[in-house]
Amino acid sequence: MRYYKYGEFFEFEFKEYPFLCKLCKKEKALIDIPSQGIKVCKNCYNTFFENRVRKTIEKYKMIKSQDKVGVFLSGGKDSSALLTVLKKLYPEINLQAIFINLGIKYHSEKIENLVRTLCNNLDVPLYVYNLPEKEGYRIDDFVFTYFKNKICSACGAIKRYLFSKIAKELKLTVVATGHHLDDVVSTMLTLFFHGDFSGIAKLQPVLPPLSPNQIKKVKPFYTTPEKEIFYYVALNEIPIANFLCPHADNNPPKKTKKILIELEKENRQIKYQLLSVFTKKLIPLIKSYHQNEPLSTCSKCGEITSATDKICSRCKRVELLNRVEDKNIELTQEMFENYVKNLDSNWILIDLKEKENLLKDSVRKLRKFFKPYRDKYIFLNATDPEIAYSLALKLRKMGFKAYSVKNSEN
Ligand SMILES: [Zn+2]
Ligand SMILES: [Zn+2]
Repeated sequence: MRYYKYGEFFEFEFKEYPFLCKLCKKEKALIDIPSQGIKVCKNCYNTFFENRVRKTIEKYKMIKSQDKVGVFLSGGKDSSALLTVLKKLYPEINLQAIFINLGIKYHSEKIENLVRTLCNNLDVPLYVYNLPEKEGYRIDDFVFTYFKNKICSACGAIKRYLFSKIAKELKLTVVATGHHLDDVVSTMLTLFFHGDFSGIAKLQPVLPPLSPNQIKKVKPFYTTPEKEIFYYVALNEIPIANFLCPHADNNPPKKTKKILIELEKENRQIKYQLLSVFTKKLIPLIKSYHQNEPLSTCSKCGEITSATDKICSRCKRVELLNRVEDKNIELTQEMFENYVKNLDSNWILIDLKEKENLLKDSVRKLRKFFKPYRDKYIFLNATDPEIAYSLALKLRKMGFKAYSVKNSEN
């Protein structure tokens, strides 16, 4: 099994080792526990993994028996594994899964289906918040704004707002997030290099609400390495999305991640040592000196913001979308015919039938191919509407006036 992440991927292969599990000494060893350097059977792997999560939850008093615990699912390995483990460790707890359908065409629907399967399998109630239906816009619409090449950042601001809003609507008392050891340590290092100490203080295992308007956030994977989450998902065949968001920045892993990988080769415990220094020494020190930044509420949506003009970053971004008059990228045959009526000869229709590998081309090659059509309206047609749509998105980000046209049969 392979799992792609932005700029990197994980690989997993079952292999029966010719010796017995290091822990139970009964079953054949099947899998490595990277942080321990031992090879164990499936049962022992699961027990080891789940016990560490249980210990973290208990040590930091993350969840009480009367809590209503929310898990926002992204379809990725971390949140899917988190929901699975919580249900297994605490079958009696009031657990609520949430999925935000961001209206990323073709992509969001596929993830929603996966998430539904996961929740059905686990028998956990799922709440789906459909952004286009509820608020009238899609994340894709940001290709019409100056955020077209930073869609992840616009999307992040909108998701943070929705996490808080939905948590209140569903009367959650705790939100559990899938942040794991690698996330926490590499973010801590990055913030440290930037001198952002108040950011570091926010990376605690439990983040109490800053105001009555907020909800407690906990990180049950605080001490779990990312690779071990991936192994847990593969071993237990947890359904996850193994495809990338069309808006994902395909950046190589951050510098700090690379530094950590190098350090880990010499010292397997380095991440735990860094985590311990940060949480036991640095965070208490920062908290004793640091005053919380003054917070106010957004004058438009009522959520907490540190913006001096009292309009939160989510509302500023939504305002940009409100100014876009025509948000169509994907046209039906009929819409297409109406469009071109008013365009004289200033347009071109490109059938992608034999050009589907254009999609895999680099931005530089695409720019070269489409250069003759710089000032024209470009209409794209393909047997698979998803292919035409994702190329249209890509071209929009490069500044072309591109549309995809659905065939009448699809
Ligand atoms: Zn075993
Ligand atoms: Zn707002």
